[in-house]
Amino acid sequence: MKPVLGVAFDLDDTLYLERDYVRSGFRAVAEYAVRGADVSAEDAFTFLWHDFLAGVRGSAFNDLLTRFPTVAERRGVRELVGCYRKHAPSIAYLPGVEALLRELRAEGVPLAVISDGPLISQVAKAEALGVACYAEPVVLTDAWGQDFWKPHVRAFQTVAEAFGLPAERLVYVGDNPDKDFHAPAQLGWRSVRLRLPGQVREARPHDAVPPTYEVGSVTALRVLLLELLSGVEHGSIRS
Ligand SMILES: [Mg+2]
Repeated sequence: MKPVLGVAFDLDDTLYLERDYVRSGFRAVAEYAVRGADVSAEDAFTFLWHDFLAGVRGSAFNDLLTRFPTVAERRGVRELVGCYRKHAPSIAYLPGVEALLRELRAEGVPLAVISDGPLISQVAKAEALGVACYAEPVVLTDAWGQDFWKPHVRAFQTVAEAFGLPAERLVYVGDNPDKDFHAPAQLGWRSVRLRLPGQVREARPHDAVPPTYEVGSVTALRVLLLELLSGVEHGSIRS
């Protein structure tokens, strides 16, 4: 196969662990929620985080207000969601990821980011990590509206145009088969699933599209990308 010439990365659970963002957001919400109530921020945070670790998704703030009535007297769910989305996140690249981005850039490989999610949150995450130091363009699909979130192809077409490269020379690295690999498959990109312990996943297998390749560590991702960039096909890691 022809060597890959450009790489686009997902953001959440690919460049950093989304659970770190969730923890950081819960800290911010806990601090905000308990102001004026007879509850400590630590207790509110512990409640939220315990729910998350137990697999609760989507009802954490409702559950918090039910558990702590004096908080519910002062705060509503929408306020807490707003606080969560707007907070300045404390997150960091997965070990080895920033070195990989730096290495690829030093080799002159064009890099991009394609990410879904509420725009204000994704901007804050991108800024906290400093992805613009390595990636251009950084495509945050919510800037076009939710209709253009993955699996829509627009962001991928935007990156291909910005790089001036055909689909068969591009690869997308993501974590989520429910939405990350549809557009690459449709357009003729290759794709890599980075599968790690601690990633946040919701099982919707009926929507899943398999990636071209799957790797189980950042080290394996680096090896695969270097092979793809040099045109070496590694059959054993093709999924
Ligand atoms: Mg992701």
